[in-house]
Amino acid sequence: MARPEFSPWAISVAQVASRAGQSKEVDADFPAPSGIGDEVIGVEEGAPVHVSGSFDSIVDGLILVARITAPVHAECTRCLRPLKRDWGIDVTAFFPYESDAKAKDGGKTKGEVEIIAGEEESEDTYPLLENGAFADIEALLRDTLVENLPLQPLCREDCRGLCSQCGVDLNEHPDHHHDVVDNRFSGLAALKAQLEAEEQERK
Ligand SMILES: [Zn+2]
Ligand SMILES: [Zn+2]
Repeated sequence: MARPEFSPWAISVAQVASRAGQSKEVDADFPAPSGIGDEVIGVEEGAPVHVSGSFDSIVDGLILVARITAPVHAECTRCLRPLKRDWGIDVTAFFPYESDAKAKDGGKTKGEVEIIAGEEESEDTYPLLENGAFADIEALLRDTLVENLPLQPLCREDCRGLCSQCGVDLNEHPDHHHDVVDNRFSGLAALKAQLEAEEQERK
């Protein structure tokens, strides 16, 4: 796919933007925009984000229906193990033609929700560039990935986590436990021995 030099996130849509009822497939990798998550959980800037779907032209703009797949790095909430896996998110976004587009400051802000006539579903709105020749998906990728980062990632559903007392990984040591009961009894036993000793002295 030819990419314009001004943005690695611009997709040429000139051929479908000319009239309604056209469709153009998208199936390519784009670099992850900056600012998605942090060190603990996020998508590294520049990591390949796959976009697979299509642009369909309607009267007042283009609709992108696609699946976005990004390599998310995270930490298991319970055992803190590093996780690296592909995260897939389905998106629907609207790219209105210039006449309908409201001013956006460089496409950095979150698109406004537009209600398409006859549809109850709301969609996020993103910019077309160069008089409709290109769709800019940078903000779409950022918004979608930021909003869909997993909040409580787990290495597996039944992760046993870490021992709350010593931090041992309970997945690796399923039988690990602390003999708190025995410790208490040994303390009592020592106290009992001490009391008995004092009793002996008094005699
Ligand atoms: Zn875990
Ligand atoms: Zn422990």
